[in-house]
Amino acid sequence: MTKLEVIETPAGHMFCPRHEVTGVRIPMRLNDVDFAKVDRGLWRAEVTDQKTGKRYKVKGASCGFPRCMCDAVITHEFKAS
Ligand SMILES: [Zn+2]
Repeated sequence: MTKLEVIETPAGHMFCPRHEVTGVRIPMRLNDVDFAKVDRGLWRAEVTDQKTGKRYKVKGASCGFPRCMCDAVITHEFKAS
């Protein structure tokens, strides 16, 4: 079983959700506020990568095991304005 890929670092919380369309994992750094939105199961959130300032919509997702929702996917990538 895969785990939600979250690693605690002094500079923030590393978070590596998979892109819904491409399947590619995008590593990002979340602040405490955004990180608190990230959970297991059915959830949706908008988060900001503290490294790049890019915003993403993410949601809980299955890791591939039936009924297991331990993963996360990016459903939308906001274009930089
Ligand atoms: Zn799982």
